[in-house]
Amino acid sequence: MPLSLTRRQALAATAAAPLVAAPLPALAQDAPMTGPTSKARTFKVGDMTVTTLLAGTAARDEPQTIFGLNVDPDEFAAVSEANFIGTDMAQFYFTPTVVRTGGNTILFDTGLNPDAITAALAEAGLSPDDITHVVLTHMHGDHIGGLMTESTPTFSNAAYVTGQAEFDHWAAAGNEGFDAKVKPLAEKMSFLGDGDAVASGVTAMAAFGHTPGHMTYMLESGGAQLLLAADLANHYVWSLAYPDWEVRFDMDKAAAAASRRKILGMLAADRVPVVGYHLPFPAAGFVETRDDGFRFVPVSYQMMG
Ligand SMILES: [Zn+2]
Repeated sequence: MPLSLTRRQALAATAAAPLVAAPLPALAQDAPMTGPTSKARTFKVGDMTVTTLLAGTAARDEPQTIFGLNVDPDEFAAVSEANFIGTDMAQFYFTPTVVRTGGNTILFDTGLNPDAITAALAEAGLSPDDITHVVLTHMHGDHIGGLMTESTPTFSNAAYVTGQAEFDHWAAAGNEGFDAKVKPLAEKMSFLGDGDAVASGVTAMAAFGHTPGHMTYMLESGGAQLLLAADLANHYVWSLAYPDWEVRFDMDKAAAAASRRKILGMLAADRVPVVGYHLPFPAAGFVETRDDGFRFVPVSYQMMG
């Protein structure tokens, strides 16, 4: 999703996260590695520790104008009712993920602003200084918004990794968010393509369409896998069940639909768990085939280590 929130929505997103980072909870370091907390939920994938971080949530009106551009309103209403959700609003979640593996602490995307990601990291017992790598799946505002705190990098010790195609697109196209958040860090960035690795067991998988260089990342450790799907499929009903329904924020709608069909099909066939950036927190689950599309099965107590 791009950062095209209305003012009211932007305020709601801000209100969901404290304006000032909460002090690190005294018990955070001793807290169990798994189990629900309000803004951090940890899973085990082999030897990797994977924590989804709720860095904001907001309601948006008229979801058909976001998720069902090419759909008859009656069909949109019927599908929504069958899945126990309304057509008047959709709740959005913004969910960066931090992966601890082999001495690296790798943050995937940074949320809308530095305060929200810092507060969520604190619930996982981490500070921004602990982050060794920041990976940007793509460069919409709700993914790059936490990179800079005023003119200072939020993650002071981090290296930065992003897709070559994504960087090249925004560098050429120009964009206020890119100029403010990404450009100041360009010297510290390294760029990868489809199949390249960020670290051992962390491999980029192209999923172009949402943006020109949008990347997902496959985690593999000890025979276990999990896909960080970023913005591949942004609503757990509409985008999973109907991958061809056009989404306003997909820059190339046909390519985005093709990426959804290909990668969701692979996840369903191989029964690989998935984390989606905008899925309801904790943003993790499984995918199965259903009719001509897919169904999202939210995580319950899997991957607790
Ligand atoms: Zn997004």
